Amino acid sequence: MVRGTLWKRLARGAAAAAALSLVALALRAAYAFRDRNPGYAVRISVSAEKSRAEPRPLRAGFARERINPDLGDPARPVWLAGFSQNRAATAIHDDLWAVACVVDDGHTRVGFVALDAIGLFHDDVIAIRQRLAPELGLAYAIVAATHNHSTPDLMGLWGPHPLRNGVDPAYRERVIATAARTLASAVAALAPAQVAFHEIAVPPAGLVADTRRPEVYDSDVRVMHFTAPAGGATLGTLVTWGNHPETPWAGNTEVTADFCGVLRDVLERGASGPAGSLAGLGGVHCFINGAVGGLMTTHPSTTVRDPLTATDHRQPSHDKSAAVGRQLAARILPRLREPAVAATTHAPIAIEARTFELPVDNVNFLLAPVLGIMDRGHSRWRHVRSEAAVLRFGEASIACVPGEIYPEIVNGGVERAPGGDFDVEPVEVPPLRALLPGRVKFVLGLANDEVGYVIPRSEWDREPPYLYGASKPVYGEVNSLGPETAQRLHAALRELSAALR
Ligand SMILES: [Zn+2]
Repeated sequence: MVRGTLWKRLARGAAAAAALSLVALALRAAYAFRDRNPGYAVRISVSAEKSRAEPRPLRAGFARERINPDLGDPARPVWLAGFSQNRAATAIHDDLWAVACVVDDGHTRVGFVALDAIGLFHDDVIAIRQRLAPELGLAYAIVAATHNHSTPDLMGLWGPHPLRNGVDPAYRERVIATAARTLASAVAALAPAQVAFHEIAVPPAGLVADTRRPEVYDSDVRVMHFTAPAGGATLGTLVTWGNHPETPWAGNTEVTADFCGVLRDVLERGASGPAGSLAGLGGVHCFINGAVGGLMTTHPSTTVRDPLTATDHRQPSHDKSAAVGRQLAARILPRLREPAVAATTHAPIAIEARTFELPVDNVNFLLAPVLGIMDRGHSRWRHVRSEAAVLRFGEASIACVPGEIYPEIVNGGVERAPGGDFDVEPVEVPPLRALLPGRVKFVLGLANDEVGYVIPRSEWDREPPYLYGASKPVYGEVNSLGPETAQRLHAALRELSAALR
């Protein structure tokens, strides 16, 4: 009798507890997916017509500020992003930076800020923009992470264990504030400028490997070189190239800007070694990554030769990062002293930018916010807000891609991959660079968002048989929103490029 009552009570208690936890879970999910920026929309359409009709002199401004984490408190470890969890930073090997470049054609002003960081979600980009005073006059601000894998977690996935968010909110706040401040400093530094565009072929061998078929790279380096008019001193450069900054690899616990930092440094100050020397240009140098998906990396099996010491580096190390940065600088610097495409003091700016939605199919990306690992709002159920843009800048064009796009979508070579889940003809065609106007076409990766891998639909593969007869699943899909991402983004960029023309 007593016993029966006890069981009933226990059962009732358990049912109530289960109902409560379901309600708690639902509330937690609703909170996790809440739109952080309801109603936020970008719809910018700025024509270059006025600038062409009424030419005014070009101005450019550069600024930079350190964004090193504070490693002083052993009770508050700094979790490094990009490989496995539980990688606490042990030292600062070299500085992390926010580098801003602002250009102004006399009618329209655009800012770029590149951060030595793993990636920023669109909500963080909005937070940076909200701190830009209207008096700065920026028609559009582009925020790009270099996708560095030796920097503090800013996305949440790399805490002490897989169920703990690795982001330090105070550091995140500091990066956001610094990015906005650096853009403001670059506006304050605006000065008359001449810009020259360079496209430099850099064969990938000995620099970057492609760890997933088809073998397509984003290997050309593209440079905007800003000097004082009439061939004066260098104000700075904006450089793009596609590769994961993860050279020191998973065993490294020291904060470093990787090859991006070395490249910026050598472009500015030069470098020398027993086998040669490079003269720097002065100025401030801004590196923005390109198409890094599918998967561009200086792999531990890639041997890189340091052109200044004539030594080969295979084992991941800071010296290997330096070799990558110096290789790039060695190819860029001589070219900047040669005639460039359309060196000019008049480079009209046009902008087409808009927010759009991407569906979230990836179950991990749905679970992570509920578990508190990822802090990213949904614009509506199972959709995130992201952003795409295409700009014209004189003879150049600039596409802003919100994630890690596979280079075949950018440069051509999307395949109907045997074993793919959809067995369709390539959808994301023609390649982005064929859609872009102008003579030198910059494609900025991880610009204004990090949505993960952007994988062609005809190469999407989760189910057996696996791609190209592989015995196990290929790597990539686990870090993608889903198989719709690439075609939606391609469609958005295609529309924006058409509007720009
Ligand atoms: Zn990546």
